[in-house]
Amino acid sequence: MERIDDERRRLVAYDGRELPFDLLVTVPPHTGQQFVVDSGLGDDAGFVPVDPHTLRSREHERIFVLGDASDIPTSKAGSVAHFATELFVDNFLAAVAGQPLPNSFDGHANCFVESGRGQALLLDFNYDTQPLKGAFPLPVAGPMRLLTPSRVNHLGKLAFEQVYWRVLLPGHRLPVTAHLSMAGKKPAEEH
Ligand SMILES: Cc1cc2nc3c(=O)[nH]c(=O)nc-3n(C[C@H](O)[C@H](O)[C@H](O)COP(=O)(O)OP(=O)(O)OC[C@H]3O[C@@H](n4cnc5c(N)ncnc54)[C@H](O)[C@@H]3O)c2cc1C
Repeated sequence: MERIDDERRRLVAYDGRELPFDLLVTVPPHTGQQFVVDSGLGDDAGFVPVDPHTLRSREHERIFVLGDASDIPTSKAGSVAHFATELFVDNFLAAVAGQPLPNSFDGHANCFVESGRGQALLLDFNYDTQPLKGAFPLPVAGPMRLLTPSRVNHLGKLAFEQVYWRVLLPGHRLPVTAHLSMAGKKPAEEH
């Protein structure tokens, strides 16, 4: 999009195409921090290009990037930073010791999505696997349901606030693997 012609209510693209609108709701391009651009480490959007499986800078092998600042092809999410960091620690220690990196990050992320009326969805996915239906965290038993609005998911979201402060921040481990588990998930064709 190049500009908005508010008087004619048209969205004008750089190539001259125009789209009419009644009510325009747009999301601005997602970009990284200016200091990343200024440092010369970032791409045109201000994200640092890394190997998506090791989070190691493609150009500077002594730099690893955790969290939103990298260009890995998944959601900018706290859960991505969490799982990536779990695998990063051993990789970093190996890198310092001049050894091959033992762990490979698969892009694992999970997140709650409030859907209203006291219900929420739960998504669990990685670079290669779109969110699937199923049970989480235990196969069959759940008690949370993936990709389906439910009251239990909403209560899980509320409970997670306590888990965040009392379990994650003090550094305790959750019984959730850093890699995506297919246990309890239904393949897409069974949806
Ligand atoms: C509204 C909202 C809702 C979200 N909900 C969820 C959710 O439900 N689940 C989920 O998993 N993720 C969620 N996220 C995403 C999550 O917050 C981010 O992915 C996560 O915080 C990224 O962590 P980070 O450490 O990479 O970056 P940040 O948390 O952004 O930390 C970067 C830090 O760097 C500091 N900084 C910036 N510039 C400089 C500078 N020049 N010098 C020094 N410090 C600097 C900033 O002040 C900031 O403290 C949400 C994000 C938003 C905005």
